[in-house]
Amino acid sequence: MFKKINLLFVGVFLVFFMSACSSVTNSTKNDNEKLQVVTTYSILQDMVKNVGGDKVDVHSMVKIGANPHEYDPLPEDVKKTADADTVFYNGLNLEAGNSWFEKLLTSTGKEGEDAPVFQLSEGVEPKYLTTKGKEGEEDPHAWLDISNGITYVENIRDGLIKVDPDNKETYEKNAEQYINELEKLHNDAKTSFNEIPKEKRFLITSEGAFKYFSAAYDIEAGYIWEINAENQGTPDQVRQVIDLIKEKDINVLFLETSIDSRSMETVSRETGVPIGGKVFTDSLGKPGEDGETYKEMMKWNINIIKKQLSKY
Ligand SMILES: [Zn+2]
Repeated sequence: MFKKINLLFVGVFLVFFMSACSSVTNSTKNDNEKLQVVTTYSILQDMVKNVGGDKVDVHSMVKIGANPHEYDPLPEDVKKTADADTVFYNGLNLEAGNSWFEKLLTSTGKEGEDAPVFQLSEGVEPKYLTTKGKEGEEDPHAWLDISNGITYVENIRDGLIKVDPDNKETYEKNAEQYINELEKLHNDAKTSFNEIPKEKRFLITSEGAFKYFSAAYDIEAGYIWEINAENQGTPDQVRQVIDLIKEKDINVLFLETSIDSRSMETVSRETGVPIGGKVFTDSLGKPGEDGETYKEMMKWNINIIKKQLSKY
C-alpha cells in the first residue's frame, strides 16, 4: 500500500519536474498538434484509434498481455494523464482494483464532473458477479459482446467531439464506418455459433470473463475463478470446474492470453480434456501477431471457439 502511494507521489513529482523542464527548453511547441488521449488498457486504445484516426495520439496505460484489473501506474502514465486532452476508461469495476485509476485522476487533476474523462461502458446493461461475497458487483467484460463494443465506440465518438469539436465530421465518419464493420462481425458471430449444436455450446476459460459474450451468442460459460483478483485458481475452484467438465461432458478448454496458464493446465491434465486454443479477453495481441486489434481479437475468438466446439 505504502509502496503504491509512494510510486504515485514520485510520479506526480516527476510530472511537475518534467513540465518545469519542458517550459524552459521547449519554446517551440511540439509539432504534434494531435489530440492527446489516454486509455486504461489496449482494447480501448485500439477503439479510440479507429474513431480518432490521424487526429489523435493514444497512450494505453496497461500494456498488451497484462491484466487491467489491477495496475500500478508508471511515472509515464501519470505524466501522460496529466497532459491528456481526454481520458477513456471502461468502468463497471474494471479499473477499481486498489482504486488505482481513481487515485490517478485525483493526483493528475482529472477528477470531477467537468473533467474530460469518459466511461466507455456508459449505456451498457451491466451484468453482475455471482461469487459469494461479490454479488452485486458489476462484471466489467462488456466488450466481449460486440454490440456493447459498438456502444463503446459511440461513447468514444461523443467524447472526442466534446473535447475537439473542430474535428466532429472526421470522428462521425470514422465511427460510422467502424460501427458498420462491427455490426457485420456481431451478426456473423451469431450465425456462426448458431451452426454449433446447442448441447456442444459450452466455453470453459480460467476467468469468468464471458458473461456478456455468453448472453449475446447463446453459449454457456464455465470458469475456474470468476474475476481476476488473483491469477491462480484455489484447489476448491479447480475441483469445481473439473466436476463441471465431467458433468457436462465437455471436450475442450480455452486459455486466455493475459492469464497465467498453470491452473488451466492442471484442469486439462486432471480431466484429460485438451486446451483447444487461446482466446483474447482483457488484452489485445501484440502488434503484427494474432488479435492485434479489437476486431481481430474478436474474429480470432469467434473462429477458434467455433472450430473447437464443432470438432468433437
Ligand atoms: Zn478480466
